[in-house]
Amino acid sequence: MSKTILSAKNLKTHFYTNRGVVKAVNGVNFELSCGECLCLVGESGCGKSVTALSLLRLLDSPPARIVDGKVSYGDIDLVKCPTRQLRQIRGKDIAMIFQEAQSALNPVLSIGNQITEQIKLHEKISRRQARDRALALLEEMGIPSAERVIDAYPHQLSGGMKQRAMIAMSLSCDPQILIADEPTTAVDVTIQAQILEIFRNLRARKQMSFIFITHDLAIVNEIGDRAVVMYGGRDVETAPVSQIINNPRHPYTKGLIACLPDISKTEKRLESIPGNTPNPIELPPGCPFHPRCPKAMEICNRDMPLPITISQGHTVSCHLYT
Ligand code: SF4
Repeated sequence: MSKTILSAKNLKTHFYTNRGVVKAVNGVNFELSCGECLCLVGESGCGKSVTALSLLRLLDSPPARIVDGKVSYGDIDLVKCPTRQLRQIRGKDIAMIFQEAQSALNPVLSIGNQITEQIKLHEKISRRQARDRALALLEEMGIPSAERVIDAYPHQLSGGMKQRAMIAMSLSCDPQILIADEPTTAVDVTIQAQILEIFRNLRARKQMSFIFITHDLAIVNEIGDRAVVMYGGRDVETAPVSQIINNPRHPYTKGLIACLPDISKTEKRLESIPGNTPNPIELPPGCPFHPRCPKAMEICNRDMPLPITISQGHTVSCHLYT
């Protein structure tokens, strides 16, 4: 079994707003092994992006605050370590790709300058060496005319090109862990396929671990090793991807699988999970899924289900299994 490189234990991130306390992440647990691709999956608002941003303490505080939990990277707790130490880790050891490349890139710096700045922040090498590495990375990302693109500004590039430049920047210091937050959401399906291909190639060539955040189970099936299904700011089912897809156990995961389109059956109507995701300001008591759950029992609106291991590497938080 591979060594754990990063883990989150009972991570809770709340936002203190005028309307009340938004419990966006309310007790998330997972372990990322060396070399694996772990997917965090769930509907919008389930807390997956806030979880990713919390791992590197990238949320503005206030209003956000990590109120509980631990994020272990080796023997460092990223929740508590000094900001100076965290800055060294960000970008160098753990890099992040954001959903919207447009807003993550600096509009007034050329792509090449942004990548070289990132390299020089962490390594003592000359500007020329940093630029050569930036060019090699852009070429590796399959960017045509990389010699020209390196001097271009973000607004001069297409959405897919910007996303590739972001990936190049995130790889510039050869990180051990890459966190990708819905990197294919803002691009069309052709670019999405190309970006997924880049990730597949990276996995084949580099000893890197990935946390891939997506709402799309088809993408999870394509690139993930294991998946953490999130609902109401918590992890509700964790298992190898094959088990999540073929043998889901949590009623919410079953609902997500039922929503997947089956292109072989053109007649089949798409299912949807009835009801809405819970309001994170007023989470329901007990299991957060109980207002939508077809299997809900009396205990479900009273007690929060605890995670139970039902088979090797497969845990579920649901009273059906207690
Ligand atoms: Fe449904 Fe109860 Fe399981 Fe929650 S704990 S998913 S409400 S059966």
